[in-house]
Amino acid sequence: MMQVERAFQVIMGSIHPLEPEWISTSAALDRILAETVLSPSDFPAADISSMDGYAMRYQDGCAAPCELQVMETIPAGHLPSQTVQAGQTSRLFTGSLLPPGADTVIIQENTQVLGDGRVKIVQPANQLGQFVRKQGHYCRQGDPILRAGLALGPAELGVLAALGRSVIPVGQRPQVALFSTGNELVRLDQLPQAGQIVDSNQYALWAAIHKAGGIPTSWGILPDDPQCLGTTMQSSIQRADVVISSGGVSVGDYDYVEKLLAELGGQILIHSIAIKPGKPLTFAIFEKDPHRRCYFFGLPGNPVSALVTFWRFVQPALAKLQSQAPPWDPRCLTALAQSDLSGDGKRETYLWGSLNWQSDPPLFTPVLDYQSGNLINLAGCNGLAVVPVGVTGIAAQQPVRVMLLK
Ligand code: AMP
Ligand code: MG
Repeated sequence: MMQVERAFQVIMGSIHPLEPEWISTSAALDRILAETVLSPSDFPAADISSMDGYAMRYQDGCAAPCELQVMETIPAGHLPSQTVQAGQTSRLFTGSLLPPGADTVIIQENTQVLGDGRVKIVQPANQLGQFVRKQGHYCRQGDPILRAGLALGPAELGVLAALGRSVIPVGQRPQVALFSTGNELVRLDQLPQAGQIVDSNQYALWAAIHKAGGIPTSWGILPDDPQCLGTTMQSSIQRADVVISSGGVSVGDYDYVEKLLAELGGQILIHSIAIKPGKPLTFAIFEKDPHRRCYFFGLPGNPVSALVTFWRFVQPALAKLQSQAPPWDPRCLTALAQSDLSGDGKRETYLWGSLNWQSDPPLFTPVLDYQSGNLINLAGCNGLAVVPVGVTGIAAQQPVRVMLLK
């Protein structure tokens, strides 16, 4: 059994980010920037006003109360045509270009229009350059603005547009083949007979892959039959960047996945992990050609084990494949346990429950029954409390590390 942290390093160390692809900025929400974006120009590109008011020389602004001659009106988006000399001013607005000669803006609330082409400055300027957004104040031409590895959200997309970038390189979304194994499984559109259950992992993992940025393809349910399993495993490994199976990785008589991975030429890097739930997780890599690998995650069949190991190991791997910058570890915070938490002692134990982060410190309440087969009470949970190896219990009101699920 490999320790959780070591297994995480082994998985992440084996992942090579996929080749970047160029896409339209309008389609880049939640994608990962693959190259650092530099500013193509100064930003702002010229001196502009940050308020509605009048532009003038600082010396005139300081001389208030005084009267200045209005040379022109400069709406935002228009080019000034007059140079502002001593004793002169130009009317302008938020976003208007500052006219040559002017260096300071007085807001319109501190002025009085006199009607004969003149304006009275009532309140003096406080400082040179007030209410002027100087050229290059936000960034200079060539400055690195968005770093490679950054996830693109609304603010980043706005910045890309402001910099004039309509296409950008992003990490490719991995093609993920997904299948379930087990003679007892039926599809959702079939009626389970005695001893049969619906393949719920297919739905949970499909959604998890999609949320993590992968492109899931369902390869259905495979029986616990080495022939059939081997054939599908081989073709899915050929086609996909990542293959995720559930079930058949334990030590039962019908658990064939690990044996088949070895037969198909996979390099099995992890046989099992000291984690509860999820101990049987199996991880292998296949070198398809010098530049392409396939990563095979054999997740345990227990529905909660499958999801917990997905969140702990597969989600970070999908993030790195898409070029996301480190840290890749799941986000954690420290909360106060609201009831006693029991740990396995030998394995890092993950207990699901609800985290209330409106309290300070945040509070974690575990579900009453945490068995790995109980998928029902995982619904609605937003955190996994982590009880470390060597610890068999954390008492109520004691601090515990909680991995965030949402
Ligand atoms: P296994 O890992 O194949 O030994 O399966 C462990 C447990 O998880 C068994 O009780 C299975 O019936 C259940 N299980 C396996 N695969 C699935 C699945 N795709 N959906 C729901 N339960 C499953
Ligand atoms: Mg099975």
